[in-house]
Amino acid sequence: MPDSQRMEKIVSLCKRRGFIFQASEIYGGLNGVWDYGPLGVELKRNLKDYWWRVMVRERDDVVGLDGAILTHRAALKASGHEDTFSDPMVDCRTCKARLRADQLPEKNEVAQCPNCGGKDLTEARAFNLMLRTNLGASEDESSLAYLRPETAQSIFVQFKNVLDTARKKLPFGIAQIGKAFRNEINPRNYIFRSREFEQMELEYFCRPEQGMELLDYWLEERLKFYENIGLPRAKLHVLTVPDSDRAFYSKGTYDIEYDFPFGRQELEGVAYRTDYDLTQHQKASGKSLDYFDEETKQRFIPHVIEPSAGVDRTVLALLAEAYAEETVTDGKGKSETRIVLRFHPRIAPIKCGIFPLLKNNEQLVGKAHEVQAQLRPLMNVFYDETGAIGRRYRRQDEAGTPFGITVDFDSLGERDPALRDTVTLRHRDSMEQERVAISDLGSRLVRAIA
Ligand code: ATP
Repeated sequence: MPDSQRMEKIVSLCKRRGFIFQASEIYGGLNGVWDYGPLGVELKRNLKDYWWRVMVRERDDVVGLDGAILTHRAALKASGHEDTFSDPMVDCRTCKARLRADQLPEKNEVAQCPNCGGKDLTEARAFNLMLRTNLGASEDESSLAYLRPETAQSIFVQFKNVLDTARKKLPFGIAQIGKAFRNEINPRNYIFRSREFEQMELEYFCRPEQGMELLDYWLEERLKFYENIGLPRAKLHVLTVPDSDRAFYSKGTYDIEYDFPFGRQELEGVAYRTDYDLTQHQKASGKSLDYFDEETKQRFIPHVIEPSAGVDRTVLALLAEAYAEETVTDGKGKSETRIVLRFHPRIAPIKCGIFPLLKNNEQLVGKAHEVQAQLRPLMNVFYDETGAIGRRYRRQDEAGTPFGITVDFDSLGERDPALRDTVTLRHRDSMEQERVAISDLGSRLVRAIA
């Protein structure tokens, strides 16, 4: 399947099954803004929960923060965003499209408008990507505030408060997951580049001499993370950002890239930002943001390593990786196309479908509800009693549900008392079925989705 077709199929499945919708769709849509539907919100939540688990809960050296989206103008002035967080923009004089100057297609070394093919473009000028708002009743410059363009800055601004309350010693990190906003000139590639998105960021503070080693450590940790959610190592690539493209304060930056259907693109940046951010905020606020080392009795500003990942980009990578079409033969020898999302069970939106073989049999339905009640506190399950069982399996395959439980007449012990209170457990990828005692289901499935 060509990659463009693959992308179209993923987008269409996401709409059809309720993963992702265009925001404000019934009013014509908002460009570069997306809503996550019932399946999408579960997928996204599982991704964020797993990140939080491995980056915060399972570590002694990282604590969390949930900073505000609305940000003081002075903070984003000090960080450099107000003056330099911009992309070069040109206008096409022919069709009036606004374009990113560094992403223009070229023909015979002449830049062209990707919209109309025109060559009459304005000079490039800097377009600041931050979204502005006003706080309070007046709408002048004095009430100007920004929607944060990254989650990181509130971590730096709150560094001292966290240090004083969490009582951590270097090296230690502060992690955050949350919304960020950028007025991208050309939002594109579905949820890959949008104007409202979520980030998962860690600021890991250390002594200056530990910086380079920790940069490599975090790169490896982050690669492991992607493998553990089902993105194969072979499709992940590490780009060492060359000196010329790196921020002037960074001593080393890696981009982790993934082979999306539309090409190899960045999923996450892992950057050694030195002491730049804390120094800037200390200078601008006049408040000390240093660290006192009890052992050496030295006072200094810590250096920082920042693994910064995009939630939405990772969701897209997970969808792209999971999407598969295959030809299967049904019981009567008829072949059909099966669409399946092969999500890792850990991130699958629904973990398990529960199906009574027939919906008009009280005993089957009753037992299926018992199984549902037993599993519900442990994971997201989906009860479905309508339609032929094969159709119900297919619907869950499309949603990426790794397990299906069918309550049949054997579960009632009608033919063989030894089978009473057992069910068939169907595996999404192999479509194999096995007989499992209802009492074993909880522990079996919890292990599989951990
Ligand atoms: P790009 O070069 O693709 O614009 P960036 O290098 O500006 O990205 P960072 O500022 O390093 O991105 O942000 C860290 C992460 O946040 C990115 O790796 C990406 O996963 C995510 N991200 C950044 N901008 C967007 C966006 N417009 N839409 C979705 N995710 C984004």
